[in-house]
Amino acid sequence: MEKNCVFCKIIAGEIPATKVYEDDKVLAFLDIAPFNYGHTLVIPKIHCHCFTEIPPDTLAAMMAAAQKLAVAVMRATGAPAYNLLMNNGQVAGQEVPHAHLHIIPRLVDDTVSFSAPQKRYDGEALTELAAKIQERLAKNAN
Ligand code: AMP
Repeated sequence: MEKNCVFCKIIAGEIPATKVYEDDKVLAFLDIAPFNYGHTLVIPKIHCHCFTEIPPDTLAAMMAAAQKLAVAVMRATGAPAYNLLMNNGQVAGQEVPHAHLHIIPRLVDDTVSFSAPQKRYDGEALTELAAKIQERLAKNAN
């Protein structure tokens, strides 16, 4: 438990949340300021700042819960689609520094938008960057 973390406080029962799922590793509750009604947050019960800090067994439990929750949220709201979203780091828009997966039900013609202009690679930049990433992966594997 991290002292000033709002999601740790929810886990500890120190502040209220509208919970929809709980097991020994994972908690899910409704987002207080939803993009659409039914917007749900899935969080690890241990304090991790972001995706890359979550232990694999906890991450597996989060994803298994998220899969069931996505179906339940769609059925409960009548939404035909959903986004799974995770902001990791302040620059990526993360406001609460306790890892959380957003399940956002999507409705026909809703005003939710995550779009931005897309870039194109010049020359060899695409294959060079792919090689760099593979190099980093190989280093981490050793
Ligand atoms: P992010 O920008 O990815 O860090 O998203 C944080 C999300 O947490 C936002 O969508 C907030 O509306 C939501 N949030 C913050 N505090 C609470 C709370 N006490 N209960 C439920 N949702 C919260």
